[in-house]
Parts: sequence; structure tokens; C-alpha cells
Amino acid sequence: MSGDHSPDTALALAEKLSAEFAQHAAKTDEAAAFPAGNVQRLRETGLLGLLVPSSYGGMGLGLAELSQVARVLGGGCASTAMIWAMHCQQVATLVRHGDERLLRRVLPRVASGDCLLASITTEAGKGGHLLSGLAALEEDGDGHVLRRDAPVVTAGLEADAYLITMRTRPDSPPSDVSLAFVPREDAEVSFRSGWETLGMRGTASVGLTLRTRVSGEQLVNGPGGFPPVAVATLIPVGHLAWCSVWLGVAQGAFRHVVGLLRDPKVRSARDRSELAAHHLARARLKLDTAAAFLQACLDEYVELDARTSAGEGRFSDVAFQLHINGLKVQVSETAFAVVDELVSIGGLRHGYTRSPGNPLERAFRDLRAASLMYANDRLLVANGQLALLDREIRLPGTAGADGTTAFFARTGRDA
Ligand SMILES: Cc1cc2nc3c(=O)[nH]c(=O)nc-3n(C[C@H](O)[C@H](O)[C@H](O)COP(=O)(O)OP(=O)(O)OC[C@H]3O[C@@H](n4cnc5c(N)ncnc54)[C@H](O)[C@@H]3O)c2cc1C
Repeated sequence: MSGDHSPDTALALAEKLSAEFAQHAAKTDEAAAFPAGNVQRLRETGLLGLLVPSSYGGMGLGLAELSQVARVLGGGCASTAMIWAMHCQQVATLVRHGDERLLRRVLPRVASGDCLLASITTEAGKGGHLLSGLAALEEDGDGHVLRRDAPVVTAGLEADAYLITMRTRPDSPPSDVSLAFVPREDAEVSFRSGWETLGMRGTASVGLTLRTRVSGEQLVNGPGGFPPVAVATLIPVGHLAWCSVWLGVAQGAFRHVVGLLRDPKVRSARDRSELAAHHLARARLKLDTAAAFLQACLDEYVELDARTSAGEGRFSDVAFQLHINGLKVQVSETAFAVVDELVSIGGLRHGYTRSPGNPLERAFRDLRAASLMYANDRLLVANGQLALLDREIRLPGTAGADGTTAFFARTGRDA
């Protein structure tokens, strides 16, 4: 593990690892196998601790670096990159909302590569709906017990700890949701269902059943404290991290096709036609616009965070919600559309044929999952309702009625 944790060295490390991961990506996909060797490399190089503050032994880097590294890793192996991105989403949640005792216990382990984190929010009966919980914490005389079905858990059997949502008490409404940090060794974890999917096959997003005791100090932001954590961190960091991975997958596919078109041994007159140029230009435009929206949302989040810390902003700001939800919808659709366009350019032989040397059809299957991973339909329904509330129609970077930009709107403190 290097002692130098500058953004440049993290990026150089990511590029090295991405090239390694690319060599195993076809096999990982074929076998739908958890990429254990790749994750071991993430552990031993310190990348699991990218967001862990240096005071806890981590790299002490921020969301800009998270996004860049996720993109680079996405270009090598989509599944490994998503496992890492989701781990970082959980780390950000702990760093920003965990209490000091919990952080001292967990973050040094994350930084040293001993703790891969997984997320358990999805639940049978409520689907993906993030801000509700069905299984409740129950008292059994000795404390609190949780029995939780978890139908889709990325790296579920390999993770060292979980962040799990749950209903706070048996008599609470589904909207009273708590978030608990649960180390794997403290839980009885049973395998429930496998992961045999079209794409993202290496994420090993299996179904599990868990039984565990949960004490008060494991609850992040206290009992019932999940909604503000989700709005301030879990959702925005998740969308930024996932979108970075998807963009990286599409960018890697684009790079592959440009390489084909430039290769005199491969290219044909058809490939160099005006029609191919037209498709390529469209694919490139989609990549560029998705990257620009991602950057705008990243900047908006970082600035809103600074303003919220100063008591001058709030994460529930309508324009910000519209942008961060819209980002997930836009990039998930656009990254897939880019690869679809690239398959047209490559044709049957270079686009649609399954072979280890052709990353396009794998990228096509991997990116098909993006709109399902927290259903775009849910976000669009939410955004349609939010759009009615945003009378100023503040677009990213444009001025609101009070003369501030969407990044600098004075909206008062979070409740
Ligand atoms: C690669 C991958 C990895 C994942 N990893 C994890 C993980 O680690 N942990 C985890 O907890 N989950 C994980 N998930 C689950 C994911 O985040 C979603 O929760 C899950 O895919 C949603 O499941 P669903 O489509 O069955 O259900 P739903 O979200 O219920 O959606 C089903 C369909 O119903 C419709 N629908 C339902 N409700 C509404 C509504 N209110 N408004 C509009 N439309 C609606 C939509 O059309 C939607 O497509 C992962 C998913 C993928 C694809």
C-alpha cells in the first residue's frame, strides 16, 4: 500500500488495476463469479479506503476522485467497479453520519482493506422503495433482534459488514426507518437465492436472510434517523458513484470501437463511411453530455454540502433533488444508448458477436441493468411531482429569483 495519497496517484493506481481487471472481465461475466482476485487487489492497494479520512488511515480523498476512479475501473470491469462504488457509497454514509465511536471501530479496518461494505435496502414486499422498511427491530428481553430478508445484495456473501435499513419498531409505520451497521461476524447470514442475470453478473448480488442483534450504537444517526442520511448522502453519493461507473463502461466501449475504426487490419470501407461517422458523432455527443451533467451535479453537491455546513443550504432543496435524481435516469439511459449505437457501428461481426475480445455485447448487457438499479420509473414519478414545486425552474448553473445560482440558492437550514 502506498503512503502517497494524492489524487494523481489514486488515479494512476486505478488505471493500473483497471487494465488488470479488463483481462478477467470476460471470465467473470461468463461464470457469473464474484471477482475475488480483483477485490483482493482493491483491498491490498488501499482503494477501499479512498474516502476514509487520513486521520483514520485512509486516502482522505473526496467525491471528485471517487468519480474519476469509478469511471476508470468501469472501463476495466463493470462488476468490480460497481462493487467498489457501492462500498464507497456506504463508506461516505458512515463518514458523514456515523458517531465517533463507530467510526473509530470501523474506518481503520476499511482503510487497511479488511472491511468490504455491502448495502441492504431492497426488501421483498416493498421492492426498491428506499425510504420505507418492513422488517422491524424487535425486543426479545436481551435487546433488539432483526430478522431481514434481503433479495439483492451486491457482494452479499463476500462482504465483511452491511449497512441495513429496517423499520425502527414493530409498531412503527413503514416510513420510520433506521439504518444499522452490522458486521458480518455478528450476523447469522444464510444464502437464499443466486444471481443469474443478463449483466452485472460478477456483482454476485445474491439473496440473503439475516438474523442479528442490533444495539443503539450501531444505528447510524440514531433510531429512525435514516431519511435525512439518505437525502444528504446515500442517494446523492450513490447516484454520483453509480453514474460514474456506467459512464466508464460506455467510455471503455467507445474507446474499443474507435480502436477498431482506426485499425487498418479491421476497418472496412463501410466502417469508414459517413454513416459510421454520423453514428460515432452521436455516441460521442451522448458521452460528452452525460459527463457534463455528472460534473455539474458533482459540483452542485459539493457546494450545497459546504453551504449546508454553514447553515445556508439544505439537501432537500427541490432543484438539487431534481438534478440528482435526473442524473441517475439520464446517465443510466445514455450510457446504454451509447453502447447500443456502438453495436450498430460494429455490426454483427464486431458489435453483436460474443467473444472474449469483444467488450461491446457485455457492456450492452451490463448497462441494461442501470435503469433497473433503483427503478428509473420511481425516480421519474418523484421528479414529475418535484417539478411542480420548482416554480423558478432552476437549471444547473442558472440564477434563481434571489440572484443565486442553483448551486448557491439560499434555502435555509435542514430541519
Ligand atoms: C446490479 C444490481 C445491484 C444491486 N445491488 C443491490 C444491493 O446491493 N442492495 C440492495 O438492497 N439492492 C440492490 N439492488 C436492487 C435495486 O437497487 C432495486 O431496488 C431493485 O432492482 C428494484 O427491484 P424491482 O425492480 O424488483 O422493484 P421495484 O423497485 O419495486 O420496481 C419494479 C417496477 O415497478 C414499477 N414501480 C414500482 N413502484 C413504482 C413507483 N412508485 N413509481 C413508479 N414505478 C414503480 C417500476 O416500473 C419498476 O420498474 C441491485 C440491483 C441491481 C440491478
